[in-house]
Amino acid sequence: MQRDRFIGPLFYFSVIALVGVKALTAIIFVSLVLVAGLNNQKQIIAIEPAAPPVMISQPLPNVSIGLTAMPIATPVPATLVPTIAPTITIKATSTSAPAETATETSAPTRTATIVALPTLNPTATTNPVSTPTSQPLSTPLVSGTTHLLSSPLLGISTTELSSIISQKFEAPPAGEDSGHHGVDFAFWKRGNLESILGVPVRSTFTGKVASAFSKARNPYGYMVIVETPLTTIPKNIVDAIKLPTSTIPSNPSNRLTCPIGFADWWSKDSQSLYTLYAHLNNPPLVKLGQNITEGDVIGDVGNSGASSAPHLHVEMRIGPSNASFSSMGHYDSLTTDLERHNYCMWRISGSFQLFDPMELFSLQY
Ligand SMILES: [Zn+2]
Repeated sequence: MQRDRFIGPLFYFSVIALVGVKALTAIIFVSLVLVAGLNNQKQIIAIEPAAPPVMISQPLPNVSIGLTAMPIATPVPATLVPTIAPTITIKATSTSAPAETATETSAPTRTATIVALPTLNPTATTNPVSTPTSQPLSTPLVSGTTHLLSSPLLGISTTELSSIISQKFEAPPAGEDSGHHGVDFAFWKRGNLESILGVPVRSTFTGKVASAFSKARNPYGYMVIVETPLTTIPKNIVDAIKLPTSTIPSNPSNRLTCPIGFADWWSKDSQSLYTLYAHLNNPPLVKLGQNITEGDVIGDVGNSGASSAPHLHVEMRIGPSNASFSSMGHYDSLTTDLERHNYCMWRISGSFQLFDPMELFSLQY
């Protein structure tokens, strides 16, 4: 009985102790398993935040693809896009010069009604270049001299102009308002300049201001025309002018509605070189009739008129001396009959024959 009394509690104690040890073992085992599991989860969680920086370093096209493919949707990508886009945009446009819009050469109001002006035929006008014997070109001031033109862009030499042409000259058929009547200069990145916007525009020749309208009209916007009598231009420059020989198409397609009834006031006994500078950033710095000197600043490069990006449009024509264009415009309801008449006289009458300005800007002596 005493042994039973002694063994009994001992047995129970043994059983309790055994159960306690087993429970402790189980607790330790479960704890170890939990700790191991938590460590694994910590590793997974630690990887997830590292994913967004990978997206940041992607170029824009890949980023946009990666954002849609990412399994974890976070608001971070939405804020990343605007900070990445500007740098890509600049790179994409840094090597290409902006082209002029087609609106300058297209004619939304063109009709086939008023066409046969007698002066349209270029053979009916005197060509001062091809008939040098009839022109007093050899004046004492310029005879025997050679001369380089002033570049129309401050800080850019004439020899550098060919590298920033964004649209070449394209002669239209006689009397048509198609083609590209001048040469365009533009760039986005050049030295310290982010674009050509605001670069001072200089007069290539000494002469008299033949147009300096204070309102921007289509297609030229703010523009200046400078008249230079041929007799004051060095012979080597006049000799370099080659007027394109074009004829009137049998079926003209690019005619304009040209208001008539305005007197044309120019002299037909002498001829001048007219240089037009278009799409200026601000109203001209010179006045109609003002005498200016080669190299004078007349405005700054802009994007006014029918232009999709900042550029300078330079146009050159040979025409009767003492012409004056108080205003000029076409293609929209803002223009008056006089403005449209002047536009037609300048561009399609045949009285002012155009040529490629690069014939002169590319002169090297
Ligand atoms: Zn142009």
